[in-house]
Amino acid sequence: MAVGHSINQRVVVIGAGIGGLTTAALLARRGYDVTVFDQAYVPGGCASTFKRRGFTFDVGATQVAGLEPGGVHQQIFAELDIPLPAATHCDPACAVYLPGETTPISVWRDPAAWRAERQRQFPGSERFWQLLAKLFQASWRFQGREPVLPPRSPWDLWQLVSAVRPDTLITAPFTFSTVGQLLRAFGLQGDRRLKTFLDLQLKLYSQVGADETALLYAATALGVSQAPQGLFHLEGSMQVLSDLLVAALERDGGKLLMRHTVKQIQSTQGRVTGVTVRDQKTGDIRTQPADIVVGNVTVQNLVTLLGDDAPAGYRRRVEKLADSSGAFVVYLGVERAAIPADCPPHLQFLYDYDGPIGENNSLFVSVSRPGDGRAPEGKATVIASSFTDLNAWQQDNYDRRKQHYTDTAIAKQGE
Ligand SMILES: Cc1cc2nc3c(=O)[nH]c(=O)nc-3n(C[C@H](O)[C@H](O)[C@H](O)COP(=O)(O)OP(=O)(O)OC[C@H]3O[C@@H](n4cnc5c(N)ncnc54)[C@H](O)[C@@H]3O)c2cc1C
Repeated sequence: MAVGHSINQRVVVIGAGIGGLTTAALLARRGYDVTVFDQAYVPGGCASTFKRRGFTFDVGATQVAGLEPGGVHQQIFAELDIPLPAATHCDPACAVYLPGETTPISVWRDPAAWRAERQRQFPGSERFWQLLAKLFQASWRFQGREPVLPPRSPWDLWQLVSAVRPDTLITAPFTFSTVGQLLRAFGLQGDRRLKTFLDLQLKLYSQVGADETALLYAATALGVSQAPQGLFHLEGSMQVLSDLLVAALERDGGKLLMRHTVKQIQSTQGRVTGVTVRDQKTGDIRTQPADIVVGNVTVQNLVTLLGDDAPAGYRRRVEKLADSSGAFVVYLGVERAAIPADCPPHLQFLYDYDGPIGENNSLFVSVSRPGDGRAPEGKATVIASSFTDLNAWQQDNYDRRKQHYTDTAIAKQGE
């Protein structure tokens, strides 16, 4: 498809998070007539930022993968012909503190250093890690060939079949396995430190622990921290990613309308015809016609937006999903002097082994670097998040719960 060639198709993208903006910018680049609606004030969704008293805080995401040569962001930015944002490596990607321990498990970027670290930390587990690394390599190459999963059309099926190579076959027996099953297969289910480390790290990526995380997904999530991949800390803030995507979208004729809530996806005889949108500033409700609608929102929101047009099977699957995990986040501006000079940018703490990881017993902490654009001279930002059960916030006194969480998070960081 020719770049910049005008295609007579109108696309509406719902949601200006990284996913929606990437889709919109790529489609505009390929000549589609694209309009993006988002209900928030600023684009970026869970990867946006806000400012307070001279500090810039990343709202949700704080570290990025895929900026290395051949990485997903690098490929997308090359196609959009925009520069990659400046970033530094997170090395270690994370420093994980288990209960009662004062030395962290450091997830180093250098593969040899990480191998030495895990052999020291988790004796007897190397065969488990070696298999994980093999699965990562094979599934990384498979994902790089852009298969469509699950396939829904002959074209999807063709993409999928073309992505399979002999080396993909090593992953086949593990398609439906979990990390917990692999631990048991290697007799490691009783290794409490290893299991807890995996639970903590996997919860960041999949929102569930080792027993429930799909093995192939975990192999990728755990494998991207090492070279030649790696996790990155963006200069400026996370917002630079969305800002660059918005610039590319608008350069190629696309439109972004913030503070516009899509109320409904309209369709006739199974084909979308447009969306109903409410302008939050004026309260006006109008119809935006479209030939294609991309809903980059949660599946629950998508079902609501489709209303009676949601396919019954899809609606049932969504209704059966377990409640999603929430994050409680405390944003702090602190004196730089209060932070050790060699503090890694990301730390994870578990305070006791009892009970499930989440409410009140764990923290994920991100710390800004001097000169990274987030804090004034001599200061730093500290963002501390913990997993939380969203239902409890609806049942319990919201303000009391918020105060309790805030006090706990601040007290724990001081320790
Ligand atoms: C606390 C936290 C920490 C995280 N840390 C990391 C990290 O370090 N690294 C990492 O890679 N990932 C991290 N993530 C995950 C990452 O932020 C998300 O996966 C990613 O940003 C999701 O992007 P998205 O575009 O798919 O969706 P979202 O960012 O959720 O965007 C959806 C957008 O749709 C809009 N919207 C929804 N409904 C409507 C409607 N009806 N009309 C108009 N607009 C609508 C919303 O306003 C929102 O802007 C973290 C997430 C959280 C919450």
